[in-house]
Amino acid sequence: MSGGLILLNPGPVSLSPRVRAALGRANWCHREPEFAELTRGLNRRLSGIHAALAEDYESVLLSGSGTAAVEAMLASFAPDSETTLVLANGVYGERMAAMLAAHGKPHEVLEGPWIAGPDLAAVEALLDRSPAITHLAAVHHETTTGRLTDLGQLGKLCRRRGIQLLLDAVSSFGAEAIEGATWSLKALAATANKCLHGAPGASFVLASHEAWCGPAQRAGSVYLDLRRYHETQRSSGYSPFTQAIPAFFALDEALAELTAAGGWISRQAQYRERVAVVESVLTSLGVTRLLPVEEGSCVLQSYRLPASITYETLHDRLKAAGFVIYAGQGGLAQEVFRLSFMGEIAAADLQRLCTALREVIAGA
Ligand SMILES: *Cc1c(COP(=O)(O)O)cnc(C)c1O
Repeated sequence: MSGGLILLNPGPVSLSPRVRAALGRANWCHREPEFAELTRGLNRRLSGIHAALAEDYESVLLSGSGTAAVEAMLASFAPDSETTLVLANGVYGERMAAMLAAHGKPHEVLEGPWIAGPDLAAVEALLDRSPAITHLAAVHHETTTGRLTDLGQLGKLCRRRGIQLLLDAVSSFGAEAIEGATWSLKALAATANKCLHGAPGASFVLASHEAWCGPAQRAGSVYLDLRRYHETQRSSGYSPFTQAIPAFFALDEALAELTAAGGWISRQAQYRERVAVVESVLTSLGVTRLLPVEEGSCVLQSYRLPASITYETLHDRLKAAGFVIYAGQGGLAQEVFRLSFMGEIAAADLQRLCTALREVIAGA
């Protein structure tokens, strides 16, 4: 049963047969040239996924979940003697603030309600008041609610004011539009096992050439100091520490599948189709979205729990039918359930999901 589960939680995702098979590809040592070559190839392909980043951004790979990549980005690129403003409209923004605190980096936090986006007027006011702020840390897709941050507006503000953007793109990279200089993007962090459909264990940070060449910040960590990785990965492809080699194999295969499927734009279209299929059923059952359509991502949606059913019952009945869904977090735990549309989901499985949703919700 558990082997056949379809994961509708926001990572890890259900793997395709090809990606799963790649996990067992071979016994490789991370100090041998074939692994260095694989690493170099993966970095090259990762920086090419979003055209706007292809020329001016370089990737490094590390082993750890998406959180490791976000923390490594902040440790390595958030300044020690200037201030980083964190926009927190959900769990992941709050987590970035906790990371900066743990690393002893000067920061301010602009918290907002989870069901609203960042307040740009408040950002401007804070920047006016605090000239020490030179960096902004934001979450592209706040997976807490499914909100896609309007980086067109926020990026413009950053550029106009000379603020450098550090972006948690863990649940958007590979499925939502990402710009580089237009957003004043210094670096972003992402992972293999969300929109790229790889396995957990490999994550990466893309940063501009200028960021890699600029003054080093005190990383406050040995393992998460990205400059160590960059120094060796960019030249020879070697990494300072043992990498999660099976997860790298899986990422290699997952990127081949992404390219064959037509890249991130096709992936976005595929997610949108999945959302449309499931949402037509939910709508017919009277289930509504937490956020307006135009504020949501293509990756994940939060839906209001019908009064007739608790989250636990919905979860357990759907799991018995073969699907793992996700609870709301914090104050939304009793109000919403979340469905993520990433990973390998066959059309027949989507139809089975629709049937299961009808039976479980209409029967409640
Ligand atoms: C999933 C997620 C993370 C954390 O990733 P892990 O792989 O669970 O460590 C960070 N930020 C966002 C926006 C996410 O969706």
